[in-house]
Amino acid sequence: MKKLIPFNKPYLSGKETDYIKDAVNSGKISGNGKYTQKCQDFFEEKYGFKRALLTTSCTDALEMSAMLANIGPGDEIIIPSFTFVSTAIAFVRQGAKIVFADSCIDNPNIDASKIEVLITDKTKAIVPVHYAGVACDMDKIMELASKYNLIVIEDAAQAIDSYYTGKDNVKRALGSIGHLAAFSFHETKNIISGEGGMLVVNDERFIKRSEIIWEKGTNRSEFFRGEVNKYGWVDTGSSFLPSEIIAAFLWAQIENLEYIQNQRKKLWNSYYEEIKKLNISSLKLPLIPDYATNNGHMFYLTCSSLQERDNLISELKGNGFHAVFHYISLHSSDYYTKKHDSRILVNSDKFTECLVRLPLYFELQESEVMNIAECIKSVCEC
Ligand SMILES: *Cc1c(COP(=O)(O)O)cnc(C)c1O
Repeated sequence: MKKLIPFNKPYLSGKETDYIKDAVNSGKISGNGKYTQKCQDFFEEKYGFKRALLTTSCTDALEMSAMLANIGPGDEIIIPSFTFVSTAIAFVRQGAKIVFADSCIDNPNIDASKIEVLITDKTKAIVPVHYAGVACDMDKIMELASKYNLIVIEDAAQAIDSYYTGKDNVKRALGSIGHLAAFSFHETKNIISGEGGMLVVNDERFIKRSEIIWEKGTNRSEFFRGEVNKYGWVDTGSSFLPSEIIAAFLWAQIENLEYIQNQRKKLWNSYYEEIKKLNISSLKLPLIPDYATNNGHMFYLTCSSLQERDNLISELKGNGFHAVFHYISLHSSDYYTKKHDSRILVNSDKFTECLVRLPLYFELQESEVMNIAECIKSVCEC
């Protein structure tokens, strides 16, 4: 039997266990130690984040954002429907109502031109999701935020090392534009720590409180810096910080960030060129707007129907390639559909039914990309 090409395979640099051993032997294994500092400093420096705090997941970072933004019952949050559950649940568990926005017609990101009509006097925040690491139209979103006094929280789970160039011609890292942002280091992302994430705070107003919420509602971070002479319970919070074991793993990945990114982008470009050559009219290639970059997180295609998509997935599987669909739009989810205001979200539904993601991971071979393209050709050309 031919071996199955998996959808994802975590990349390991080989240094992960060395650094974990070092962390364990240091005697400081809980959070906010040497490796946590190294990771946070790296991200702040490289991407221009005002403050970076490692968390145990992106979901945690989104929950911290909801707490920082003081989201509560009666508040409305605008998010795209075509996203992962976490984007919504972090706000729903604070009692907020989710108002779903549609995707763009030609890519799964939130259609920024259709947000304004959804804004009411109850709207508190917009949560754009940079799908596949490709930037949303951030100028438009930040303009709306300042016009209506809203908080923008970037769900940058997939968007490490990706950029947006706005009207001012400045190239900014995703995660550095909104008031707050959340990243994921789950093993399916570009750089990983098993489970893991990061909250980014760009708005100075939130920095002090973010450390308190991170450290179980205490001012322990200030105490460690010697800014206060005792620490205690001062606000709400939870245990959001990861142990040094997780941070040590992440540091081994960060050291190889460029190497990982170059390989992923190379594979992504091969997919793009190979499939473009096939010239299959029913298959749409991913669109990267001029203002966005590609970080090689994901290679997806959009089929012309649910039937064509499901057939493609099953034919690829029969040939040893594990391709997968993606989100069931959240406005149609069991949990939220009754609370949704019944607007039809045409583009979001289209990506739910027609999008297919192809295998993409560091160790994938160029020859396998060719084979997958060849298989797509034989399935879709008849
Ligand atoms: C992966 C992902 C998350 C969740 O990340 P975790 O670290 O697993 O909590 C949230 N939003 C999006 C868009 C994601 O892709």
